Amino acid sequence: MPANSTTNDAAAAGHAGLIADALRRVPGGMYVGGSWREASDGSTFDVEDPASTERLCDVPDATVVDGAAALDAAAGAQAAWAATEPRVRSELLREVHERLLADREALAVLMTAEMGKPLEQARGEVVYAAEFFRWFAEEAVRIDGRVTVPPLGDHRIEVLRRPVGPTLAITPWNFPLAMGARKIAPAMAAGCTTVLKPAPQTPLSSLALAAICHEAGVSAGVVNVVTTIRAAEVVGGLLTDPRLRKLTFTGSTEVGRVLLRGAADNVLRVSMELGGNAPLIVCDDADLDVAVEGAMLAKMRNMGQACTAANRIFVQRPMFETFTEAFAARIGALTVGPGLDAGVDVGPMIDADAVTKIESMVTDAVDRGATIVNEQASLPERGHFVAPTVLTGVDPKAPMSCSEIFGPVAAIHPFDDDAAVLDMANDTEHGLVGYVFTTNRERSRRFVAGLEVGLVGINRGIVSDPAAPFGGVKQSGVGREGGREGIEEFLEIMCVSEA
Ligand code: NAP
Repeated sequence: MPANSTTNDAAAAGHAGLIADALRRVPGGMYVGGSWREASDGSTFDVEDPASTERLCDVPDATVVDGAAALDAAAGAQAAWAATEPRVRSELLREVHERLLADREALAVLMTAEMGKPLEQARGEVVYAAEFFRWFAEEAVRIDGRVTVPPLGDHRIEVLRRPVGPTLAITPWNFPLAMGARKIAPAMAAGCTTVLKPAPQTPLSSLALAAICHEAGVSAGVVNVVTTIRAAEVVGGLLTDPRLRKLTFTGSTEVGRVLLRGAADNVLRVSMELGGNAPLIVCDDADLDVAVEGAMLAKMRNMGQACTAANRIFVQRPMFETFTEAFAARIGALTVGPGLDAGVDVGPMIDADAVTKIESMVTDAVDRGATIVNEQASLPERGHFVAPTVLTGVDPKAPMSCSEIFGPVAAIHPFDDDAAVLDMANDTEHGLVGYVFTTNRERSRRFVAGLEVGLVGINRGIVSDPAAPFGGVKQSGVGREGGREGIEEFLEIMCVSEA
């Protein structure tokens, strides 16, 4: 037996123990009205480890009836939760924050097991998710209004902010804990109850979050988690229920459009965090090390499976060769493997379809004349792995340039002047994030003015922060999550005119 396969078997055996311990954080069933229950028709679906393709466990496959039961619970709890003193809501949020941090290791292993990201990144995500609870614990006690008089001065106008009401939250698989936390924390802080439907690939982190909310003392019905592979049916039933008042969605633009149509009949308040196609611009005056480091983060975090991932890297021509060489060397040195293995930089893709999609983009780009410029990593035999790849000479009209790559693959394009690169950067239906690397502050401010995006990273490859309003323009979304603005998405305005 080759030495490396002994090592792999030993690692796999170690992982099995770790995963079994982490799975104990997930009580069986889905969480509705403060208790754990099976699907009304008893059906379940499997959750798979993308690194080994082995089954981790099964979870209930909720029916339309279960979706309605979760909304019953949320609607039933709404009035009392809205009337709960802000200080009490705040302290519960703070308690959830503390418990998430106390459970960081088990939650990180669970996340890596169901989603694949390297353990260190999963640990970071637990802290990031917990921070939303702390941030919104602090916002819960600062929901204010105002009093004014109209120009005639003949009466008083009082502006109040009240919770929107029962909320449906739908999340993707790429940040299994943080995407739910980014919705549930501000909803709770504002006084809204929630039904969360996580992605079917990664329901375990959301179920563990529900267990933590339960243990922290959050009242029954305030947070509900429904797991299903019948999303269109279950969500369709909820969207037509007049008790639902808000839809908050994170996922692809394609599904976002469908849900916006579905939300129209009941005229729901909507927040949409949708897809991206981020440009990353490296100017000829950039600090090379800062730019390479920033590009590594912006491209490779989460194996490139992030809405914020740098999808098109534009480098000014005098810097093009040096940057490409340094970046390709860093990418070529990355270790690919199961996220629970020590020293792994790049874990598996979420599923086999993702691998096929990314590989076909690379093949198409090469067929159109692109060149792969980095050393290709060796890949584990099992699991949904893709080799980190850097390409130059990619056709700007190729799928790789026009749609989300969502994988550890980077295309580098040269540019000559700022006006031309701004045109290329903005030539997309998306407008989530843009990154600019330059040491010239005036130049960076001109890019800020010209980029059609909701977020800009200047000399930074990461823009997400619970303290920052996150969200896109154009077809990347509606509304903001995080920052002082995040709670506003769950509040509506009432105006009282008083004689
Ligand atoms: P997705 O296919 O749009 O799915 C997202 C969620 O929507 C899943 O829970 C999915 O469940 C559900 N869904 C799909 N079709 C539905 C329908 N007809 N009715 C109700 N629910 C439905 O996205 P994904 O592949 O999970 O995630 C990747 C996408 O998310 C990328 O485009 C990425 O850019 C985006 N994203 C955006 C942000 C942001 O903040 N802007 C953050 C993270 C990710 P099913 O899988 O069961 O259908």
